[in-house]
Amino acid sequence: MDLVDFITRELTDDAWMDDGACKGLTHLFFPTAAERPQTRELREQAAQRVCEGCMVRVQCRDFARDNHEYGFWGGESEHERHAAGFRLIAPIGVRARQSS
Ligand code: SF4
Repeated sequence: MDLVDFITRELTDDAWMDDGACKGLTHLFFPTAAERPQTRELREQAAQRVCEGCMVRVQCRDFARDNHEYGFWGGESEHERHAAGFRLIAPIGVRARQSS
């Protein structure tokens, strides 16, 4: 880890990410452009299964909630985070679900 990485990690407190079970599986955690609702559901089910065995699940969920992240984090979808009171600025997944 170089100095810039070290300083960034200290400021954002995201060192827990190194222990995530989702390394190399980004395609399961973030949608493609114009993802269909049925595809999103299947993708998020697969992501959920990965998160269930992850040792940093709570840190991940809290990070996403605190930082208004998009995508699937800590076993929680955008929709679930939004419903739990952690609002997204432009909740794309939430809007897609409401209009389908
Ligand atoms: S809880 Fe899920 S999204 Fe978060 S680091 Fe673990 S596997 Fe990745």
